[in-house]
Amino acid sequence: MPVLGCIADDFTGGTDLANNLVKGGFRTVQTIGIPKPATKLEEIDAVVVALKTRTCPVEQALRESKEALHWLESIGCRQFYFKYCSTFDSTPRGNIGPVIELLLREIGASFTIASPAFPDNGRTVYRGHLFVHDQLLNESGMQHHPLTPMTDPNIVRVLAAQTRLTVGLIRLDLVRQGEKAVSHAFDTREGQPGTVAITDATSNEDLVVLAGAARHLRLVTGGSGLAIGLGKNFGLQKGRAAKAIAPAGRRAILAGSCSRMTLKQIEAAKKVYPHFKVVPEELAAQFDATLERVLSWAKEHRSNPDPLLVYTSGSPDEVASNQKSLGANRAGDLCESFLAEVAENFVNEEIFQLIVAGGETSGAVVSKLGLDLLRIGPEIAAGVPWTLASGSNREIALALKSGNFGSEEFFVDAWRFLGTPK
Ligand code: ADP
Repeated sequence: MPVLGCIADDFTGGTDLANNLVKGGFRTVQTIGIPKPATKLEEIDAVVVALKTRTCPVEQALRESKEALHWLESIGCRQFYFKYCSTFDSTPRGNIGPVIELLLREIGASFTIASPAFPDNGRTVYRGHLFVHDQLLNESGMQHHPLTPMTDPNIVRVLAAQTRLTVGLIRLDLVRQGEKAVSHAFDTREGQPGTVAITDATSNEDLVVLAGAARHLRLVTGGSGLAIGLGKNFGLQKGRAAKAIAPAGRRAILAGSCSRMTLKQIEAAKKVYPHFKVVPEELAAQFDATLERVLSWAKEHRSNPDPLLVYTSGSPDEVASNQKSLGANRAGDLCESFLAEVAENFVNEEIFQLIVAGGETSGAVVSKLGLDLLRIGPEIAAGVPWTLASGSNREIALALKSGNFGSEEFFVDAWRFLGTPK
């Protein structure tokens, strides 16, 4: 029976968390949305319910998060984990703050932590300030994000603007005093109504301390980093992850992320794979005709064993110009629904091994394909596992990559982590 119930605010974030849970000893599945009653969840320690609530209206995020929480409670989960991005992707309205507030209220708790740090991916928090590798969040490229530009690195301030809860800080100095000291600080804060504390952490050891101290919290929130230390609270052993077996079929990469690292990964992949770039203006003018062009290009490459790369991703200047002419939401929606259509057509053409780059983009693709359960397989890079994705009578090998995750060679290297085709 699952003991840990997780709610992720996007699909790539869900696989990122599931990956770290597996590493931490949890047998984990990820569901896309709230599962159907018939979904089998035997021999599972953790369930990640992946929602697409990062940028939707606040009311929708609250409604869906509440429903997910009640479902996780109904299957017996004892502790809950709200997962958002390690770069705290959100807008001034939320949705991180309002969802934390709701979850605390629903489970009847008064205190939780907000722990975005993910040192394996260069995300660290010091004195409440978020760093991406050597740069502050607002200089990391995230200030140009098409949907959630992050222009303030002070996460205490960012979260405080989104919630009525009191937002505090657990400083690194305290974390370095060890689990007992942090646990005591949590207890003290639990006595005060409605408090959330941002936690500093610059290493996995810090996260292990925080996770240990969080043993008695009904709710924890953060990026995926905290998950590496939670297993011991439930007596779980590391290294029990099952390996996914790859379904046979051709390969493709679909990219809608405009993040710095994805742009570099696209450049590296373009050197070795057939590639096709689509721009939002084309989609606004001729959506169906553009789709036809991509599909006939793909047919021409049918006998080529290399993965096909289709992308809408553009530089910050291109994104700014597209957003100016079409509006940010329309530009984003067009790209997302286009790549989702491409995915549907590709899978129908027996492309059964797929990498999708971009959180929102992944959400659109997974929904279109009707996939509802992801079994977590081998890790490709920190935060990105291969998964065996099933639903709508299909099963594919799927990797959902958050914009900035992975090294430059990710799109080229990822395939070697797949198991032997069935
Ligand atoms: P990431 O994981 O990097 O945040 P997402 O897929 O979550 O990537 O977000 C990228 C957003 O940018 C999506 O809504 C996508 O549709 C949109 N987008 C993709 N290409 C373009 C483009 N050329 N111009 C404007 N927006 C784009």
